[in-house]
Amino acid sequence: MPRLYGLKAISHVWSHYERTEEGDDGWWKVRCSHCHLVLCYNARETGTKSLMRHVERCLERNLVKPIRIE
Ligand SMILES: [Zn+2]
Repeated sequence: MPRLYGLKAISHVWSHYERTEEGDDGWWKVRCSHCHLVLCYNARETGTKSLMRHVERCLERNLVKPIRIE
């Protein structure tokens, strides 16, 4: 799998998400600005890798048709 995003992606990835609220234990709810899917984010648990992976898939799908995530 090609690495589209390197370390610079940490700032880059947030341009695809809107942070809505901080919950307990550092969990954030973030909303994808492309498909408006809400994901949970925790810097210690999930990091930004899962967010980046979603953005990659999201953008790929958006190229074809409007997104609908399972
Ligand atoms: Zn998305």
